[in-house]
Amino acid sequence: MERQRTTGKLLATQGYVIGVEISGSGLRQSVALADLNGNILYQVRRPLEYIPDSQTVLRLLDEMLTEVTDPERLCDGRILRVGVAVGGLVDASRGVVRTLRHAHGWDNFPLQDYLVERLDVPCIIDNNANAAALAEVESGAASSSGGEGGNRKAERVVLYVGLGRGIGGGLVVNGKIYQGITCTAGEIGHMQVKENGPKCSCGGYGHLEAIASTQAISRTMIGLSVEYPETEAAIRRLTGARAERITAEQVFQLSAAGDPIAQHVVEDVHTYLGTALANIVFLMNPGMIILGGQLALVGELLIAPLQARVDNLCLPIVGQSVRIVQSEHGSEANIIGAVTLALQDV
Ligand SMILES: [Zn+2]
Repeated sequence: MERQRTTGKLLATQGYVIGVEISGSGLRQSVALADLNGNILYQVRRPLEYIPDSQTVLRLLDEMLTEVTDPERLCDGRILRVGVAVGGLVDASRGVVRTLRHAHGWDNFPLQDYLVERLDVPCIIDNNANAAALAEVESGAASSSGGEGGNRKAERVVLYVGLGRGIGGGLVVNGKIYQGITCTAGEIGHMQVKENGPKCSCGGYGHLEAIASTQAISRTMIGLSVEYPETEAAIRRLTGARAERITAEQVFQLSAAGDPIAQHVVEDVHTYLGTALANIVFLMNPGMIILGGQLALVGELLIAPLQARVDNLCLPIVGQSVRIVQSEHGSEANIIGAVTLALQDV
């Protein structure tokens, strides 16, 4: 099923684009070769178990680029653009990585210039949640390929929320990423939602990320369970006696199975994430909120209570038009987002 792209300046009919995904944690690093319809033809991943410095990432990136751009793969023309989705603060207008939290050597790194020099191809970089948001609008949950313009109006203002080890947001308005004045629009992970709440990775307290990220959920669950033997036993059963490895999805499973401590943790996620989303709905009046990242894989266990919370907090006339849905690109949203960034500019 081929879909006509309607945005961007599609002048080329032959060639390829490259998508690059970089995360601060080292867990998500990949390079993909795609055709001009956005189909990924070849992809390399080099995940790391530790937080790498920029030199390590750039060396891996070089190796992956060499593999992906092997002349044997490029029988239908040359590479026209590179798109990069970065899991950190990015100044998209200047092509500079401002910072990758936890990772060293990235502050004000001119990644766009670096890649242009390396590949001799125009390059566009952006934050990963922005890229994922664009991908969902172009070819995912908010794309118009599903129906004959059935939901077009709702897709004009779309918020994507990436719920992983961190929390990021991307806003797409009329088909374009909304950047704000200094390219930091959508950084909703550091909104304060709970006064005197838990400490955040940024040093602040009570931020959304400190309550509703996958890391925060696991950490809170482990911390609370030590005083409740039954809950501890349930965690041990679920994790094969490696309680420290409990995932956020497993916390949601325990909650659904009736564990009161897990239910408490999950309720906090619904409450504070719901509050943040409702506040954004009042300001932006989006037609869709798309939940992505690892936590979104729990599906309705997250979506239904959040929709109810947003409906409850918003005036009916404000809240009734917004639909909360699951990302269609799932764990591939960032790399598909990188490819989509490149295609926007072809
Ligand atoms: Zn924070």
